[in-house]
Amino acid sequence: MAKPADPSRPSADSARETARPAGGLQDAFRRLPAVEELLLDPRLATRAADCGRNVLVEHVRGALDEWRASIKAEHWSAADVERRLGQGELTRDIEARLSREGRRGVVPVVNATGVVLHTGLGRAPVHPAAAAAMAAAAQGYCILEVDRESGERNQRDDYLSLLLARATGAGAGIGVNNCAAAVLLALQTFAGGGRDVIVSRGELVEIGGSFRMPAVMERAGVRLLEVGTTNRTHFADYQTALSERTGLVLKVHASNYRVEGFTAEVSAAELAALGRERQVPTCYDLGSGLLDLEGSRPLSMLGDEPRVREAVSSGIDLVLFSGDKLLGGPQAGLIVGSRKRVEQMRKNPIYRAVRLDKVTLAGLEKTLELYLAGRADELPARAGMLVTQAQLGPVAEELARRLALLPGISTEVLAERSQPGSGTAPTVFLPTYAVRVRRGGQSAAALAHQLRIGEPPVFARIQDQALLLDPRTLLSGDFERLVAAFERLGPVQ
Ligand SMILES: *Cc1c(COP(=O)(O)O)cnc(C)c1O
Repeated sequence: MAKPADPSRPSADSARETARPAGGLQDAFRRLPAVEELLLDPRLATRAADCGRNVLVEHVRGALDEWRASIKAEHWSAADVERRLGQGELTRDIEARLSREGRRGVVPVVNATGVVLHTGLGRAPVHPAAAAAMAAAAQGYCILEVDRESGERNQRDDYLSLLLARATGAGAGIGVNNCAAAVLLALQTFAGGGRDVIVSRGELVEIGGSFRMPAVMERAGVRLLEVGTTNRTHFADYQTALSERTGLVLKVHASNYRVEGFTAEVSAAELAALGRERQVPTCYDLGSGLLDLEGSRPLSMLGDEPRVREAVSSGIDLVLFSGDKLLGGPQAGLIVGSRKRVEQMRKNPIYRAVRLDKVTLAGLEKTLELYLAGRADELPARAGMLVTQAQLGPVAEELARRLALLPGISTEVLAERSQPGSGTAPTVFLPTYAVRVRRGGQSAAALAHQLRIGEPPVFARIQDQALLLDPRTLLSGDFERLVAAFERLGPVQ
């Protein structure tokens, strides 16, 4: 751990010149208090109530180990150690370790990056009504696999299936842990045991986090049959590849990249027709799950990003998408399609390993109810896409004004661009106004670090060595939290 510079301490060089005898080191080591002794320190003892005695002991030992290393490496004398102990340095080191650990884990942040679906910050924030339903399901008993009317056991996602069918126009639906699990389940159900899955070469995507289509296929025990070329795949390529070994024809939306120029791909409708003719299941992995329903404004700024309802109406057997990308719900993978194909997937024993828990189910049900009620635009993910540059201007101006009142801070409002995020519509940028913040002579990176470890943590954008705050991704209450985080910043580092 970096300790504050101590002017009274000899520099490393002069210390080496006056290298103390080994006995001096032993004497310095002996001055260190015992673990038990430190645990009696009232300041530390109160911390044990939060973290537990064993964890506290671990941090005390860790700090002592570091002090021993410093004594050895930096030749602290017994007197140096005494003086540092007298100034409470060791207790402060232990407290700093506890504080650092207290900042770990899943902690709410202010997202001022302007990236609406920020993978590092948890993708879609759910609607407050969905969050409340999730908390209620988590806290108590809930109706999960039992029918209220008859008292009989039923399927946990019967109601989800109904909502998905209404919202997407499909015959049925089920939910799993995420879209990656949905892909795995589809592959395994229809082509497990070495059957062929036909995919266009231009669609063998890597989603990130080591989710690469060919690797997933290998693990699912299916045989990948690539057709076409990187830029062009034709109907005849699929036709020729189809055989009695074919288990599934898969179309994958190239979410996070674009193939532009001399290109050709086969539409979902054409693949659906081919699958019907040859009696082979067809599947479309959409990824982001853009659902434009009556009562909500179409997210036309996302260009040709495929829509769930259009994919379903193409007649393809199965459509897969994430719950926490453009759909704006909790993390999930949603599978919609014909009753027959959905039922086949449900019967796969692997479904049991990747199915949804009660908390996610509660959040998804509420999210889809909002869609069906025509209230989808209230979902933070959609609202974040829909808010216009004209609406963001006054927010940026006010933020700039408030922050500039703080000592050492200067601000400027700039016309900028935000991003949808999560690999969704990678070539789309959303016009915004951002606040550029300068603080003393501090570098943007140093200010960003202080904001990240502050309370509440704030994530900003760094662009051309300047710190930018984009109001697009501020949720209810975040404006004041953001200003408060700046007010609480420590001295410039
Ligand atoms: C994002 C994405 C996935 C993975 O979805 P997760 O919900 O993150 O597992 C799969 N396929 C496509 C096309 C995607 O865009």
